[in-house]
Order: sequence, then C-alpha cells, then structure tokens
Amino acid sequence: MTHSRTEDGLARNFVAGEWREGDGGARIAVEDPASEEIVLEAAIAGEQSLSLAIEAAQGCVDRRILSDMLPAERAAMLRRVATEIRALASEGAPLLSRESGKRLDDAEAEFAEAASYFEYYSGLADKIEGRSIPLGPGHADFTVLEPYGISAQIIPWNYPVSLAARSLAPALAAGNCAILKAPELDPAALLMVGHAIERAEVPKGAVSILNGYGAELGASLAGSPLIDQIVFTGSVATGQAILHAAAETVTPALVELGGKSAAIAFADADAAALVESVKWGIFNNAGQVCSAMSRLLVHRSRHRDVVERLVAMAKSLSIGDGLSNSDHTPQISSTQLERVEAMVAAARDSGQKVVTGGTRIDRAGHFMAPTILDEVDPASPIAQEEIFGPVLCVTPFDSDEDAIAIANGTEFGLVAGVFTRDVGLALRTANRLRAGQVFVNQWFAGGIQTPFGGVGKSGFGREKGVEALANYVRTKNIAIALD
Ligand code: NAD
Repeated sequence: MTHSRTEDGLARNFVAGEWREGDGGARIAVEDPASEEIVLEAAIAGEQSLSLAIEAAQGCVDRRILSDMLPAERAAMLRRVATEIRALASEGAPLLSRESGKRLDDAEAEFAEAASYFEYYSGLADKIEGRSIPLGPGHADFTVLEPYGISAQIIPWNYPVSLAARSLAPALAAGNCAILKAPELDPAALLMVGHAIERAEVPKGAVSILNGYGAELGASLAGSPLIDQIVFTGSVATGQAILHAAAETVTPALVELGGKSAAIAFADADAAALVESVKWGIFNNAGQVCSAMSRLLVHRSRHRDVVERLVAMAKSLSIGDGLSNSDHTPQISSTQLERVEAMVAAARDSGQKVVTGGTRIDRAGHFMAPTILDEVDPASPIAQEEIFGPVLCVTPFDSDEDAIAIANGTEFGLVAGVFTRDVGLALRTANRLRAGQVFVNQWFAGGIQTPFGGVGKSGFGREKGVEALANYVRTKNIAIALD
C-alpha cells in the first residue's frame, strides 16, 4: 500500500486540498546527493497555484473555519495530524533520506519529531488565554489572543519535515491558516506532511504546500500583500530579503537564521562526553545544521589531547549514503560541496592549519571529508562565517574571559555550549554567552518543549516550546465602560 503523491515520480503541490501539477509544466529535478541520480521531479507551482492557495486560505479565514473551531476540536485535529505523520513515516523517511542524503535514522527521527510538534501544540490549543486588566470599578477590560490569518512559511532543506512542523503546528493551534513553500532541493518528504493534513481532515484550503524556487515562488509568497504573517527559516541573506519584503507590506516576519556556534571545553571537561558531542554537533547531517558546533574552544591544558581524540574520531567515521545509516553523509548539492571546499581551501591558503580532511572525497556524490582545523585565529573568515558543512574550527584558550570573548565574537548568536563538571562555572559562563540557548555537557540538549531562536544575525523570535505561540497570535484589548 502506498499513499505517496510521488509514486509516479512526480511530487505535486498540495493546493486548497487538491494535488496539483503546478502551472506551465515546469519541473525541478530532485537529486540523490549520494549517487547523483535523479530521485524524482517536483512540479513547480507558479502564480496561478499561489493565487489559488491564498484564495482558499483567505476563504477559511473569512469563514472563521479554524478561528471559531472549538479549541478542543482544534487540539483533536492536531492530534490526528500527528497520528497520520507517524503512519506515513515508514514511507516518508526513506524518501527524505534519499532526497536530502541524510541518515535514515535521522529522517525517521524527523518524522517522529514532526508528529511530536503536533502533539505538543495540540496540548496548548485550548490554553491560549488572554488576561484581565483592572481599570477600576467603572470598567471591565480584557485581552483576546487572535490568530493573524494566513501564515506564510518558507522552509529550508536541512530539516524540511521537522522545521515545517515546528512552525505549522503552533500556527494551526492558534487558529491560523498556512501556506508553506517547500525547499527546492528536497521537497518530496515535506509533501507527505500535506498528505497527513489531508488524511487528518484538516479543512480544505487551511494548509497548502507549494514547490518552487526561492527567488520566484518564495519571493512572491513573502512579498504578497495578502498574507498576514511570515515565518522564515534559512540563511541570513534570504532572511534579509524577506525582512525587506515584509517591510514593504508591513507584515510581521519571524526570521530564524544561521549560526557560528561555539562550545567551550574547560580544563575539567569530560573527554568522552565532549568527543561524542563534537561527533553529533558538527558531523551529523554533514554539518548542515543551523545549530552545529562549528567552533570548539579548548582550555590550553587539554588542547593537544582533545585534538588527538577528535582527529581519531573524525577518521573513524563511516562514509556513505543515508539509507545505510553511515556516520558521514554527503552535502546536499554540488553547490554546497563547492562552497564548503572553497572556504576550507581559502583558510588553508591564508595559513590556517587543517589537521584532518580539508577536501572533497574522491567518490560519486557530494562528499566532503570530515574536517578539523586547529589553532584557528578567531578573527579569520573560517572562524567568523557560517560554513554549513562538516568543518570544525578548534582554538585553544588560556582564561575564562578569553573563552567567553571568543565565543561571543561573531555576528551570530544561535546556540553555545559549555563543558565542565563545575556547575557554578557552567552557569556563570552560560549567563554571559550571547546566544539564544546554551547547552551544558551535551550538544543539542533540549527538545521541542524548549524555546529556540537567536540573537544578532541568527535572527529573532523564538520557536518551539510555549514561547512560540506568541508568534502566531496578536493581542486585541477590549475595554468596556460599565456605567
Ligand atoms: P536559504 O536561505 O537559501 O533558503 C531557505 C528557503 O528560502 C528555501 O525554501 C528557499 O527556496 C527560500 N528562498 C530563497 N531565496 C528566497 C527569496 N528571495 N525569497 C523568499 N524565499 C527564498 O537557506 P538554506 O540553504 O535552505 O538553509 C540553510 C540556512 O538555513 C543556513 O544558514 C542555516 O543556518 C539556516 N537554518 C536556520 C535554522 C534556525 O532555526 N535558525 C534552522 C535551519 C536552517
């Protein structure tokens, strides 16, 4: 039994509750980055499909389909979506693994996480509460938290299924409709979420998912005067373009952008926990993670030993495609591989020391060798710019002050990490780190319940957790004169 809308090799658009081929017959060829074979094609949605999606969503908003639905019914609807996502995972995860190159277990975890987002926000759908404000005996005053209407959501390729759920679930919980733009490099797995939405009997038109290129469909969606809110997850440059577009139409926009996150390993750090965290922090998903541990600052007394362990770990990683659950998988595209390789080559040419890796791997597919640079100058481009690849920059430090200054010394501020057995030192350091979240003794600590977002060029606003609901509602105050 298959439920995929890609069973004939074509990923269609989910528009106003129907599966459409798009406009004009244009297609995107979606490649398996491990073999460079074409996995499927995606039918591009043009202006006509986008108009249909907006019209359908606006119809739902005007008829107050979701906003007037009893909160407990909205909660039940979200639970049904979660159930359907779990049911589709065995079909969707291999598809995601093939089109993105990521490990199959990572892809399975994405579907599980996506379902968890819908479950988590179903629990909050009937707890979106205003407050009463005392104005004295002559008045009654209270606030109402209303949905915006149409939430436009532009999704990146690195975690398309879970990141889509991260924004879609709270948007629906609050009573919004949504139009999602799938990432052009790996759109098909996200379209399975459309299928879950359909099977969960979410009202037709409340959610549409469209395929297309960023500069075309993405720009049209973000620039539309007919949408009410924008959620963007992706690169800084595109985030800036979205914010400009939002300024034109005065539309609220939430941007979750890149990072250059540092872990600080103090002298007493547990070596095994640190090496395991580096393995996941920078090499999982080939380093294509916004919150990757791209910098490691190590106390000089431990520096030599830690680097030796990390090089041994990097060299021990199995390399191969995602479906075989290899430790190390390809970059998603030749463009990404070329970018990563060029950044490392420029660093080497300017005198930075590459201690393992440093070039692409000589085999089919877009594989970059797991790479570590040592004694990296914190002011150098390789230590300042987001690489989005399996490249770790190690820098030794002498004092706690130096470590904090280096960690805080980029334009980004997404996450940071502290490795020490001293809780006081961990907390004092965490308080001074310029980042949206701080991990202590484990990279990627936290979950869907914990707020996530950045400072500086990592963006603003917070997704995940209870905090995220604030992105999807606006406050109306109602003041009543009683006399
Ligand atoms: P990207 O900015 O190139 O693309 C993201 C999405 O925006 C894609 O769907 C793309 O088609 C679309 N897009 C591109 N140009 C557009 C335009 N002019 N108008 C509207 N939409 C447009 O980013 P990417 O390469 O897909 O993802 C990698 C980046 O995303 C990294 O910088 C990473 O750090 C960041 N990221 C951040 C988070 C977070 O939560 N902070 C999570 C994942 C990824």
